Amino acid sequence: MDYGIVRRLVETLRHLPGVSQRLAERIAFSLLQDPDAQHAVAELSTILGGASSCVECGWFIEKGKPCANCARDRRVICVVESFSDLIGIDRTGEFDGTFHLLGGLIAPLEGLLPEDLTGDALLRRVTAGGVEEVILALPATIEGEATVHYLHELLAPTGVAVTRIARGMPSNSKIEYLDRKTIGHALRERVKVS
Ligand SMILES: [Zn+2]
Repeated sequence: MDYGIVRRLVETLRHLPGVSQRLAERIAFSLLQDPDAQHAVAELSTILGGASSCVECGWFIEKGKPCANCARDRRVICVVESFSDLIGIDRTGEFDGTFHLLGGLIAPLEGLLPEDLTGDALLRRVTAGGVEEVILALPATIEGEATVHYLHELLAPTGVAVTRIARGMPSNSKIEYLDRKTIGHALRERVKVS
């Protein structure tokens, strides 16, 4: 039997992260039968159509609207690998500076090189002035260490203080999986990168 529109719907849903074939089939059938679910999909498409990312910090913004992250205290920049790390640190309530989304870590074996990250945008932010400290909230993994080294070298000529969150965290742990207390502690006990 030709599943026609159901097949197209399932194939499209399969592009969503974490959606298996079976889950895609379940969602497809409820979408076809439930007007509320159809409305939600239309709403998602409207929201996404109006979304953009800030050229300065990488945070998501609504097109034409100012960036909420860049509106925070710009004297301290906290560099994170991903959105989930940003949220993990923001939820501690212990950081009111701005974040900088790096978009990954240096991992040559996986083809991730410094130019794939947003280091240049970070350097521009620091060079623009008014920044007193850059906190590197990166994991204590080989990739994290390589990235800390790269950013430290990149920022050295600017004279800005470069610190990193404390090693009170289990090594190889991803920041997003740590609890608020541990992250808050690592943030407070940060050390100068040398
Ligand atoms: Zn921004």
